[in-house]
This record gives sequence, C-alpha cells and structure tokens, in this order.
Amino acid sequence: MFNLILFGPPGSGKGTQSMKIAEKYGLEHISTGEIFRNEIRNKTTIGLKVKNIIESGELVTDELLLEILQYELKKHKDIKGFIFDGYPRTLVQAGHLDQLMEEMNMKISYVISLDVHDDELISRLLLRAKETNRSDDTEEVIKQRLVVYNSQTKPLIDYYSKQKKLLKIHGIGSIDDIFRNITYEIDNH
Ligand code: AMP
Repeated sequence: MFNLILFGPPGSGKGTQSMKIAEKYGLEHISTGEIFRNEIRNKTTIGLKVKNIIESGELVTDELLLEILQYELKKHKDIKGFIFDGYPRTLVQAGHLDQLMEEMNMKISYVISLDVHDDELISRLLLRAKETNRSDDTEEVIKQRLVVYNSQTKPLIDYYSKQKKLLKIHGIGSIDDIFRNITYEIDNH
C-alpha cells in the first residue's frame, strides 16, 4: 500500500492538491476537516460537538480524531492506499496514526509538506473567505488557526523529518506547477 500525508498550514492548498494526488495515484482521500464540515451540515452529535471549536479556530480533541480515524481506516478495504489531508495535526495524533498503521500492517510512505509563508496564507484565506462560506475563514479565526498551526502542528515537521519521510515542496505558484513538483518528488523517491 502507498499512504501519504499532505501536510501544511491552513491555506497552503492541502485540499486542492490532495484531491489531485488521490486521483492520480488512486488513493482514498481522507480530509478530517471535510468530515467535520459534513457532520456539522447534517447536525449530527459529532457535528454539534465540534461546531464551536472549529468556528473559533481551535483543534478538535485528539480522542475524537482517533475515533474518526479508526472508523475511516476500517471502512475502506482493498484500496491502494490513503492520502491524509489535515491529519495528523498534533504529536499525539501522529503517534496514534503510527500505532494504528502498525496494527493494520501499513505504514506512511511519505509526508508531503507544503511550504508557504504567513503573508501569502493570510491573503489566500481572506480571498477564500469571500469566495466560499466557510465559517472559519474570517480574519480573526484565520489568525487563530495560524497560531494553533505554529504551536501544535508545525512540530510534526521535525517528527517526520527524523523518520526520513518528509518531502518539502515550495507551495507558491499555480496549482498545476505545485502539483507537478509534488508528483516529481513522489515519483523520484
Ligand atoms: P481543515 O479543513 O483541515 O482546515 O480543518 C478545519 C477545522 O477542523 C480545523 O481548523 C480544526 O478545527 C478541525 N480539524 C480538522 N482536522 C483536525 C485534526 N486532525 N485535529 C484537530 N482538529 C481538526
């Protein structure tokens, strides 16, 4: 199996690139943010639990993410692999993912890290706020999501770099250029 993590700050293009990668390599795309947005739309118990957390730019608990991950990993059988988009976001989650993968005789092949500086992220997210109605794309929440990213998620770069799984990609340019850089890195490793 071929399992990838697409890693990067909010606004780095994880969602867009993950979908393209999933299509090209035939992988199952797991976006925890999308899962939560669906739960919120459908007003499920999970949706009601996470709505305020997401709208304030904070992270949902590691325990709830673990439940969702276990469910998703077991749901998809006979597939080529997964691409995780927006998971893991904390060191605890990264540990959970490694453990679950080991239990299921799988492993993470590569972690693709999209590198985009803060000014560019803020302007992209503000633009997205105008174009979509994501309730966590307001200026105040965007700033909070970046604070959370820098303190809780960024340390994962070191975690995966030590495991020699990190592929760093310059995340500025057109969607197609960035996608080409990603596939080049994947195919030449
Ligand atoms: P995203 O679409 O990946 O930017 O996720 C939107 C929001 O969902 C995040 O700002 C978090 O509040 C929540 N979320 C998504 N994935 C995770 C995760 N792995 N851990 C904690 N919270 C998450």
